Amino acid sequence: MKVKRVEAMMGRPEGLKLIDENGKRLDGRKKYELRRIDMEVGVLKNADGSAYVEWGKNKILAAVYGPREIHPKHLQRPDMAVLRVRYNMAPFSVEERKKPGPDRRSVEISKVIRGALEPALLLEMFPRTVIDVFIEVLQADAGTRVAGITAASLALADAGVPMRDLVAACAAGKIDGEIVLDLNKDEDNYGEADVPVAIMPLKNDITLLQMDGYLTRDELLEAVKLAIKGAKAVYQKQREALKEKYLQIAQEVAGNE
Ligand code: UDP
Repeated sequence: MKVKRVEAMMGRPEGLKLIDENGKRLDGRKKYELRRIDMEVGVLKNADGSAYVEWGKNKILAAVYGPREIHPKHLQRPDMAVLRVRYNMAPFSVEERKKPGPDRRSVEISKVIRGALEPALLLEMFPRTVIDVFIEVLQADAGTRVAGITAASLALADAGVPMRDLVAACAAGKIDGEIVLDLNKDEDNYGEADVPVAIMPLKNDITLLQMDGYLTRDELLEAVKLAIKGAKAVYQKQREALKEKYLQIAQEVAGNE
């Protein structure tokens, strides 16, 4: 258990209920309801691929460059492309200004996101190159790693990087003794546990599974199942966002003929 969670739970305002007597959460959602999610693909002119995701109050931009020549050269792999991921939070993305630059948390999140995306990519097609993924959190309200994975996967597809499947992600957790979908910041702070999950839906492969907090074995299973359900709904939205972009291109091409 992270120290942060213990401190947050101890600092919980007295009488604060995360779920009311009607089963409604602080933001009005039901237990198994996702926050509102909007996605757009191809939002940056200068990146090879890009995507913007608004997920509740999270605002996240992903940009992809590559496959391209790798510097420094000694990092290159003779058999496959190297995948580099940088997750970064803007100083103004959180309530208490965040010092710019990497910290332990962002280095860890970059690493787990890289692990979540890598199984989906046909890196062996591009030996001696690098694919760079930049995830910029402009506004954070819990669940930024799952929103970041979702945006990055869209940006990779937009860049035309060959993929086995999209990677879709979502978290579930426990608040006031109940397993719920997609925790927001207050629920993450004052709840009992948070379980982010990423999947490749075509084969039901899990590429990220983390747990912060305390859960019994059965609760963990329930949370994972629920997060997978959430990720599948996210996957549908990703497909729609990609289709939207290709429809636009098709219309532009038709207009120019
Ligand atoms: N957070 C913050 N300051 C920080 C790091 C995180 O306010 O320096 C907030 C932010 O809203 C973030 C939330 O805490 O989304 C939960 O962070 P966590 O490490 O659990 O990752 P996430 O849920 O965003 O993937």
